[in-house]
Amino acid sequence: MSRFTRARIHLDALRHNLAVARSHVGEAKVAAVIKAGGYGHGAVAVAGALAGADAFAVTSVDEAEVLRQAGFHQRILVLDGLFEADELELAAARGLDLVVHSDWQLDLIERFTTETPLRCWLKVDSGMHRLGYAPERVKMAYARLANSASVEGPVNLMTHFACADDRRSDYTRSQLQVFNAVCEELPGERSAANSAGVLAWPESHYEWVRPGVMLYGASPFADGLPGRPALEPAMTLESRLIAIQHFRRGDRVGYAGTFTCPEDMPVGVVAIGYGDGYPRHAPSGTPVLVDGRRTALVGRVSMDLICIDLRDLPDVRINAPVTLWGQGLPIEEIAEYCGTISYELMCKLTSRVRFDYEGGHGEG
Ligand SMILES: *Cc1c(COP(=O)(O)O)cnc(C)c1O
Repeated sequence: MSRFTRARIHLDALRHNLAVARSHVGEAKVAAVIKAGGYGHGAVAVAGALAGADAFAVTSVDEAEVLRQAGFHQRILVLDGLFEADELELAAARGLDLVVHSDWQLDLIERFTTETPLRCWLKVDSGMHRLGYAPERVKMAYARLANSASVEGPVNLMTHFACADDRRSDYTRSQLQVFNAVCEELPGERSAANSAGVLAWPESHYEWVRPGVMLYGASPFADGLPGRPALEPAMTLESRLIAIQHFRRGDRVGYAGTFTCPEDMPVGVVAIGYGDGYPRHAPSGTPVLVDGRRTALVGRVSMDLICIDLRDLPDVRINAPVTLWGQGLPIEEIAEYCGTISYELMCKLTSRVRFDYEGGHGEG
């Protein structure tokens, strides 16, 4: 291995986190969300580790096809449904579950003829105000779908939360009221819960839950309340120290000289940067682990390198392992320093990062 930058993917952690999700939802079935390449962890490897889920959920027919090509036979829920008419044939052939959020999709499905009918989920806009049918239009859309020859009944119902990550917000409860009202008298299974719903809103579990980020070991909550769910990180981003410099008081470190040494001090240089997907806007002070001990970023993140404060770690050596997030350093903490969420950090690693899969022994 030449450059040391790698993401270790802990497949055991994925299995553990799926078990945590199950422990919260009783008899509800779990659709493990593995869109966007399994939140950047590698969709096929993640699907292998999570093969015990009742279904997978992805964004598009394309993402579902990757899983079918890899040999997965589980139900796959396509969260954004169709993008184009010519995907219908494949969706039916592959036995996908399609979300239907718009009239144009309904029109296509009504005109479609197939010998392998589609399973469909009507998307209800209960307050997220992004995709889906307004409550007053649900009955009409449901009836059209249910009467389509290409659709296998009963049609299912789903919705998505806007604020479930804030346990103090009343908004989730009001979305649940809207969803409950439209689902009344309509047959079919229901699904509402994302990770935050799984962990904090038991009344949202219904027949199916759709956890994503919690499976990768990150807390979905952004409400500052204490306590962290007992999740294990599925990704540890690592590199190594490739230089140790001794700067003088007043020396400025890195591009634009944004960090000035307050005293004579050792500074470590680590082989990782925004070219690997480490966030460029991580400020001085963002924590990193060297040899398992905490220190902090100093100066700007560059494409290939970052600099770190070694004042409290005078004994570290060249090649010392550095953890950017993962085991021992929750990704949520890094996300908070960077003004973003763990989801974005996970998804943004680049192809330059080597992925090492650990703990794989088929389905546990
Ligand atoms: C991404 C997504 C989820 C999973 O959300 P998490 O917050 O990662 O648990 C669930 N449902 C839909 C519709 C999604 O797009």
